[in-house]
Amino acid sequence: MHTLEVDLGHRSYPIHIAPHLLTRADLLAPHLQTRQVMLVSNTLVAPLYLAPLKATLTSLGHQVETCILPDGEVYKTLDSVNQIFDALLEHRFNRTCTLIALGGGVIGDMVGFAAACYQRGVNFIQIPTTLLSQVDSSVGGKTGVNHPLGKNMIGAFWQPQLVLADTQVLTSLPARELSAGLAEIIKYALLGDADFITWLEKHLPELCAYHSERLGEAVLRSCQAKAQIVAADEREQGVRALLNLGHTFGHAIETHMGYGQWLHGEAVAVGMYLAARMSCALGWLTQAQVARVQALLQAAQLPYLPPAQMQVQDFLTHMAVDKKVLDGRLRLILLQDLGQAVITQDFPISVLHDTLNQVHL
Ligand code: NAD
Ligand code: MG
Repeated sequence: MHTLEVDLGHRSYPIHIAPHLLTRADLLAPHLQTRQVMLVSNTLVAPLYLAPLKATLTSLGHQVETCILPDGEVYKTLDSVNQIFDALLEHRFNRTCTLIALGGGVIGDMVGFAAACYQRGVNFIQIPTTLLSQVDSSVGGKTGVNHPLGKNMIGAFWQPQLVLADTQVLTSLPARELSAGLAEIIKYALLGDADFITWLEKHLPELCAYHSERLGEAVLRSCQAKAQIVAADEREQGVRALLNLGHTFGHAIETHMGYGQWLHGEAVAVGMYLAARMSCALGWLTQAQVARVQALLQAAQLPYLPPAQMQVQDFLTHMAVDKKVLDGRLRLILLQDLGQAVITQDFPISVLHDTLNQVHL
C-alpha cells in the first residue's frame, strides 16, 4: 500500500492507495468518530461496490445509512445535494456524523459540498472510484455543484478526513473513462516532472491494460504532485493555476461541443497538445518535444487534434470568457520545457492564432 499525507496544517489528511481498500476496516476506523455514517453513491457504482463497504462499516458497529443518487454530470446539482440533506435529517444525523463519497468526481464533489454545509460542516471521507477522481478531484478540497448558468459555480473549499483510492475498482471502468484519467496524469508529468514523463512513456501500455500495480504508482505520483501544489497554494492565488495546463483550450472544446460529447480528459488532452505547439512556436519547446507530447497522448488512447468542426474563431470566442482571463489579457499555462510549466500572459496573441490555424490545416 502507498500512503501519502496532504500537508494542510491541522486539516492534513492521508491518502491510501492499493487494491481492495473497501474492506479495510483498520484504515477507516481511526477516522470515524461517532456511530453515524452516511454512505453516498450513485445508481451505477452502488450495485458494484456499496455492499462490501457497508459490511465493513457495519462490522465496526456503525449506524450506516445510504443515499443513492442518479448517475451523471447532469445530476451534479443543488437538488441532488438536497437529497443528501434530506437523508441526513430524516435519520437525525448530528454534527459529529461522517459522510462517505463512493463514486467518481461527481459524487465526490457533491458529498464534499454537502459535508461543508450540513450543520455548518461535518467530516467526510472520499472513496474515489474513477481514475480521474483518484488523481484529481479527491485531492485538494474543491467541492461543489453546477448551476444552469455555469459548471462548478456553487461550491466551497472543504477537506476530507481521509481518501481511499482502491485501484481494484478501476477494473470496471470503461476504457474511455480510464484514458480521461490518464490525461490528468500526463498533465502532472508535463507541468512539473520530467522523470514522470519518461516513466509514462515506458508504462502507458500497462496503464491502458488496467495493470493494478502500475496504476497504483501512477495514482501515487499524481497525488504527490497535486498535493504539493495544493499545500503551497490551497486557494488558487498562485501556483495552483499550473494545474490548469491544457484546461483553457479544453474548456473551449467542452463548451463548444456541449458537455458530454467530449470527456473532460479528452478535451484537456487536446489542450495540452495545443499548449505544447504554442510553446514550440515561442521557441520554448523543440518539435521533437512536441512529438513526444503527441506520442504520450496517443499511447494513452487520447485525441490530440481539436474537433474538425471547431473553427479558430470558436476557440477564441470561448477562451475570451474563460475564468483564467485576468484584466482582459489571456493568461495561459504553457511549457518552458517538458516538465516545467509557467503561467504567462507574455506572448503575442498572433502566436495563439497561428497555432490554432496550423492544427486546422
Ligand atoms: P463521474 O463521477 O461522472 O464518473 C464517470 C462515470 O464512471 C460515471 O458514469 C460513474 O458513475 C462511472 N463510474 C465511477 N466509478 C466507476 C467504476 N469503478 N466502474 C465503472 N464505472 C464507474 O466523472 P469523473 O470523471 O470521475 O469526475 C468528473 C467530475 O469531477 C466533474 O464534475 C468535474 O467537475 C469534477 N472534478 C472536480 C475536481 C476538484 O478539484 N474537485 C477536479 C477535477 C474534476
Ligand atoms: Mg481537469
